[in-house]
Amino acid sequence: MNKAACVMLLSVCGAAVAGCASSVAGSSAVVAHEAETPGVEYAYSQERRTILTRTIGNAGPGVLIFGGIHGSEPEGLAPTQRLIEVLQNDTWPAQIVVVEDMNPDGSTLLSRYNARGVDLNRNWPASNFESSFRHGEEALSEIETQYAYTLIQRVDPVLVIVLHSIHSGPFVNYDGPGIGYAEVFASAADDADRSHTWNLQADMGYETPGSMGTYVGVDRGTPILTIEFDRGHDEESATAALIAGVRAVLDKVVTD
Ligand SMILES: [Zn+2]
Repeated sequence: MNKAACVMLLSVCGAAVAGCASSVAGSSAVVAHEAETPGVEYAYSQERRTILTRTIGNAGPGVLIFGGIHGSEPEGLAPTQRLIEVLQNDTWPAQIVVVEDMNPDGSTLLSRYNARGVDLNRNWPASNFESSFRHGEEALSEIETQYAYTLIQRVDPVLVIVLHSIHSGPFVNYDGPGIGYAEVFASAADDADRSHTWNLQADMGYETPGSMGTYVGVDRGTPILTIEFDRGHDEESATAALIAGVRAVLDKVVTD
């Protein structure tokens, strides 16, 4: 971002602005705001809903977790809240950054898309991005993906986890060099979830142009796990599976 644009944003956002480092070339800049609670920052969705991000720990390898991206798949949202509480009581030699809900406008409407009708999991600057109404006119055309993109650049994670749900769930899908983490997550989730069998699924079975998985895993080379809860997964089982799975992969992150 050039200095003039940064100053302009600072004047718009006022004293709460944490920094002006977050911008995407060729698209409108997104600025993360620092909340009064330590370790909490927020950005805004298209309709000015809050996208809350919590950072737990501040040293060691970065792990970035997205609690929701498709608003019609709310199964991961409540478990993410419980996960944050649990992780805050642990001490991990890692920097764990959790975006509670990347698509709060979609979650409010129970819509897969954001408020502009774009699928936030097709809007990434991946090598297979395809421009369309649902994917966005260009990659990172959406304010929500711009924010998530800047977080990935800033945290430079060794592992990314994003939560979805699907009728054929639950399973763990992965992109990039993520099979080791996927196996560990699926095994721990299966042990912890009393009402479901968790599997590993290397391929979603359909094309996902411009997905976060392709951008992060294939193009960036960073392991990414796509966690697919069962559609309608009960909260207790989903929470148990998520906490066990994340703890298991964190163990692997800090020992590898
Ligand atoms: Zn999804």
